[in-house]
Parts: sequence; structure tokens; C-alpha cells
Amino acid sequence: MPAPRLRVGHGFDAHRLIEGRPFVIGGVRIPHPTGPLGHSDADALAHAISDALLGACALGDLGAHFPDTDPQWKDADSLRLLAACHELAVRHGWTIANIDATVVVQAPKLSPYLSAMRDALADTLGLEVERISVKAKTSEGLGYTGDGSGIAAYAVVLVEALGNAEG
Ligand code: MG
Repeated sequence: MPAPRLRVGHGFDAHRLIEGRPFVIGGVRIPHPTGPLGHSDADALAHAISDALLGACALGDLGAHFPDTDPQWKDADSLRLLAACHELAVRHGWTIANIDATVVVQAPKLSPYLSAMRDALADTLGLEVERISVKAKTSEGLGYTGDGSGIAAYAVVLVEALGNAEG
């Protein structure tokens, strides 16, 4: 049976928000008193998309490729991690058809920055911005995304075989 030409991947990420960290999401820095805690810049959206992309290609996950024990990735721009995941996917014969993602956080309000996030992701991946969707939600005050203690991101990525994919 021929290998499917289209495959989907799902990614999730969450980070604790603490004072004194820059708030970076989708490659965009937003003024806010707290920011995500992590080894890299802790960009939950970039991480969720990276995991969705790796997942679609069955290439493991972000932590396996870029362990948080590696000093090389300390405070790293996570768009660089995403670019590296994309290179890996392309090497395995896959190209991104589209991305749809949702960020969940109570504050700051992300809607003014969604377009900048899509542009940053499009630039990183060499994709038309029309193929990238980023949505922002609150959890209406519920749970860690609602009480200001955390941020979460979910993403799905559809990949298409370039012609020599390893299925
Ligand atoms: Mg993460």
C-alpha cells in the first residue's frame, strides 16, 4: 500500500509564568510583568508547533532533539529550534502544508500580536503567512492558564510528502 502523502501531527506545550522573565510567544516579545520559565526562551507556541511538526513526521519530540540539559540552548530563541525541526522534516522528505495553533493565557491580551507571530513563524519556516493560523484564547480564569501562573499552546501541523518521504 503506498504511504500516505499527507500526515498530521499534534503538539502541546506549557510553561510556568514568573516575574523577571521576558514574555516571548510565537517569536514575539510582549511587554508584561511575567514571562515563561524555561531553559530556552520558553516560547510555548514555537515549542508546540515544533512538536506537532516532529510528530507528523514521526521524528520524536523537541526534548529528544534539543535536551534542556544542553547549554547551547540556554535562553535560545525557540524559532531557531523550530527552524532546526523544519530542516529535519525537510531532510526526511516532508513539507508543511499548514499550521493551526491556539495559545491559552489569561494575560497579556495576545490579539494585537497574532499577526506579528504569524509573520515571525512564516519567516522562520519559509512559508506563506496564509498557511499559518494562530489563535488566542483565555480559559476564563480557570486553572493555571487562568490564574496567571502559566501559559499553554496547542498546535496541529499537516505535512505533505515531497516525493521521497520515508513514510
Ligand atoms: Mg516548552
